[in-house]
Amino acid sequence: MIAQNHIEALEQIVGKENIFCDKAHTIAYSYDATRTRYEPDAVIFPRHEEDISRILTYCNEHRIIITPRGAGSGFTGGALPASGGIILALEKHMSQILEIDMENMVAVVQPGVINMDLQRAVEAVGLFYPPDPASEQYSTIGGNVSENAGGMRAAKYGITKDYVMALRAVLPSGEIIRAGKRTIKDVAGYNIAGILIASEGTLAVISEITLKLISKPKMKKTAMGIFPSVNQAMEAVYKTMAGGVTPVAMEFLDKLSIQAVESKFNKGLPKEAGAILVTDVDGNSLDELDIQLDIIQTKFNENGCSEFKIAQDEQEGAALWFARRNVSPSLVVYGNKKLNEDITVPRSKLPELLEAIDGVARKYDLVIPCFGHTGDGNVHTNVMVKDGNDPKQLEIGHKAIEEIFQITVDMGGTLSGEHGIGLAKAPFMSMAFTPSELELFKVIKKAFDPNNILNPNKMGL
Ligand SMILES: Cc1cc2nc3c(=O)[nH]c(=O)nc-3n(C[C@H](O)[C@H](O)[C@H](O)COP(=O)(O)OP(=O)(O)OC[C@H]3O[C@@H](n4cnc5c(N)ncnc54)[C@H](O)[C@@H]3O)c2cc1C
Repeated sequence: MIAQNHIEALEQIVGKENIFCDKAHTIAYSYDATRTRYEPDAVIFPRHEEDISRILTYCNEHRIIITPRGAGSGFTGGALPASGGIILALEKHMSQILEIDMENMVAVVQPGVINMDLQRAVEAVGLFYPPDPASEQYSTIGGNVSENAGGMRAAKYGITKDYVMALRAVLPSGEIIRAGKRTIKDVAGYNIAGILIASEGTLAVISEITLKLISKPKMKKTAMGIFPSVNQAMEAVYKTMAGGVTPVAMEFLDKLSIQAVESKFNKGLPKEAGAILVTDVDGNSLDELDIQLDIIQTKFNENGCSEFKIAQDEQEGAALWFARRNVSPSLVVYGNKKLNEDITVPRSKLPELLEAIDGVARKYDLVIPCFGHTGDGNVHTNVMVKDGNDPKQLEIGHKAIEEIFQITVDMGGTLSGEHGIGLAKAPFMSMAFTPSELELFKVIKKAFDPNNILNPNKMGL
């Protein structure tokens, strides 16, 4: 517990109305999307960067632990106050879009801005901010930067890091730093902004973000391909991407995923198909879209596609996307506990990866539906545990996950394509990094946070 004199000192900084120790607040800020809970001792709502600086200066001096938090939608426990202390909640007062600079095509935002609010604001003036995590309606840009979030459009437009031009951040010592510039080119010095991206609140509190914007393409079209086997669909993905077209999105569902959505929603999906690929293309003219769709159809057909549908309007497009958008909650038909991972491999390894996951499922007699962002090699593997309250079943599920991680790493892939490490994947860091690499992470952590007050024990640090 934090002593009362510390609470009083922090009240002097932010005012009594912005610091809370009551149960309603400590419980409300005790969770994230992992559904694990750790109650903080207090929740503080900083009003501006200066507040963050003064809070961190005080906490650093008194060794009080701080966990920064955006919307708490993280899937790996990054925003959980697992070591107690204070939650620094940035979504309340620090959620302003500060500037949309049309001439340089740049937006400057506070960390608590919700992703979709930024997308809407820039689209209203004809610009485009592409990173679109499925949590876009509630996750914050500060959280997106700290996890390096990606979304459906990553196949063509990349992920959060591709749009961060500059950051302002507060170090645990309270010092305010600027990293990066509002310029397309900037090669002076170490890339500190690059180090802060995906640092999961372990190095500094990000207080302002300058983001690159691009022009908004005028139109898009959706298509779907049905495949007899998942292997053929995976071949089609990487051969299409290497074949002269870069779709905005290239998403897939395997047979188990299709069957789960169909049993829940009865939409007439092809239950016997091995896999479905759903793809979007965009551009500034219908000709441009048709050329891309022609190439995709040819590549799909060359790889065994049995049916190719092109949506004729937005409504038909939404219907083609229905299965993909509703797959995650549909998987409950296989069990009440889903161990969901977001492994990623080079695209050409996708067929091999899916085959290996099938082998793991058979070895442990588990159901492991897979779906996801195959355009960028990112596969959501869902190890379904029939009864999540049975420790034996859970243990088998975790064994399967460990094996899948090892397979992924051996293929040159990564433990996480978008959800980060947090607490959930910390035990697997030594599988993915050498001892010297892990030591370098620790050196970086110590350089930023010598007293280990900022989000300790996350990412295995
Ligand atoms: C239904 C659902 C769908 C999702 N889909 C996707 C998806 O498609 N792609 C994807 O990438 N992720 C996805 N996620 C995961 C999650 O939404 C992202 O990781 C998101 O970026 C987290 O943002 P947040 O504001 O909720 O951050 P939080 O969960 O609050 O925090 C995440 C991490 O960032 C740190 N942090 C937050 N703000 C700051 C700051 N200002 N300074 C320093 N550190 C900070 C926290 O300490 C924590 O470690 C999904 C989650 C859900 C629940």
